[in-house]
Amino acid sequence: MTTVVENDNPMAIAQQQFDIAADLLDLSENLRGILRVPQRELSVTFPVKMDNGETIVFEGFRVQHNLSRGPTKGGIRYHPSLTLDDTRALAMWMTWKCAVANLPYGGAKGGVVVDPKLLSLSEIERLTRRYATEMSIVIGPERDIPAPDVGTNPQIMAWIMDTISMHQGYTVPAIVTGKPLNIGGSHGRHEATARGLVYLLSEAARHLDLNLSRLRVAVQGFGNVGFTCARLLESLGATVIAVSDSKGGLLNMAGLEIDHVMAHKQASGQVAGYREADEITNADLLGLDVDVLIPAALSGAITASNAHQVRARVVAEGANGPTTPAADEILYDKGVFVLPNILANAGGVTVSYFEWVQGLQEFFWTEREVNAQLERVIVNAFHNVLTAAQHHRVHMRTAAYTLAIQRVAEAVTTRGIYP
Ligand code: NAD
Repeated sequence: MTTVVENDNPMAIAQQQFDIAADLLDLSENLRGILRVPQRELSVTFPVKMDNGETIVFEGFRVQHNLSRGPTKGGIRYHPSLTLDDTRALAMWMTWKCAVANLPYGGAKGGVVVDPKLLSLSEIERLTRRYATEMSIVIGPERDIPAPDVGTNPQIMAWIMDTISMHQGYTVPAIVTGKPLNIGGSHGRHEATARGLVYLLSEAARHLDLNLSRLRVAVQGFGNVGFTCARLLESLGATVIAVSDSKGGLLNMAGLEIDHVMAHKQASGQVAGYREADEITNADLLGLDVDVLIPAALSGAITASNAHQVRARVVAEGANGPTTPAADEILYDKGVFVLPNILANAGGVTVSYFEWVQGLQEFFWTEREVNAQLERVIVNAFHNVLTAAQHHRVHMRTAAYTLAIQRVAEAVTTRGIYP
């Protein structure tokens, strides 16, 4: 039986979560041995010429966790404290996320240890093109398809696509997703993670007998996922009383005007300082009396030391790995309904899958078609996980893991062990 101990290493957390579900499934030692660790890892160091003529050597990674259900899929993160262990955990979560949404992918993740805010645009372009070249031996439309994550964006995906296309001598649109629309991106991709989370919240609200338009919401992280969730929920009538970014948070009990907060952030670089709200810390935000708390920043936000402060009825994990397993136990004891990351933020990879399909077929969908297909996938995934939760009498995270692990384990078993 797995004992839950507090650990802030994301790979240790990912493996603890895996072990809990593997115990429940009575998974064989052979399958555990295969699924508990990444299948492939590429670690590189590479030089980049800076604008001042200096050369700096950067470290980068790509981890492919499991290839049994198809090519691997996962974002690229540019962050100064990224480690290989973070990348492993994120790749493993991608495997489960793709399996929960029933997409024909395994999981991967990559990144560079860099603070992109300290680089000029042309330095980021040179770093990206060199990183893409280093990764070119493991990525490809049939092999491993990157996408944006923290610190990267559609422009960076465009440079990766262009670099690989230059090497091939022809355009390879399906090499990355999250591209700009004018070079084969998909309608709805930019908002997809948040939109998926909102579809899920609306199913969860129905299940819990809550009224979506009366929900009071707090959002940690005001980037792509956090801001878009806040804006979509506001447009559905919910009251977003608090948001935060890395520099601090805001509280207005009557509700924040999300576009105004974003305009302030764009002008000043932070949400703090917005006049129509009181300033709060990130720690305060986690303890607010709200119906829904959406952690949408980085991993390790809700731990054993602050989980007892959470007063939300629902925690919907926009971020990857925001809650530690020890914190999970505290939340469950308090009766919090947790929508786990591998379900809650699967909207992004789902529309990435649609983008990849459109790129391979050279046939493009309208935004309405994308959103309708996204809703179908997310609503199905929610009900599949809920059924597993009721069947195994477990919470949604372990249920999502059991569903995902079972699907991947079946693929491994059906394919057999080569040779
Ligand atoms: P982003 O870089 O656009 O935004 C991140 C936000 O978090 C920023 O506002 C930043 O200031 C804030 N932040 C950073 N550290 C913080 C801290 N300690 N406290 C509070 N806020 C902090 O990134 P994003 O794309 O919105 O991703 C957010 C999370 O969602 C990440 O965990 C990412 O892996 C996950 N995710 C993103 C996508 C996607 O499609 N973008 C898909 C799945 C999962």
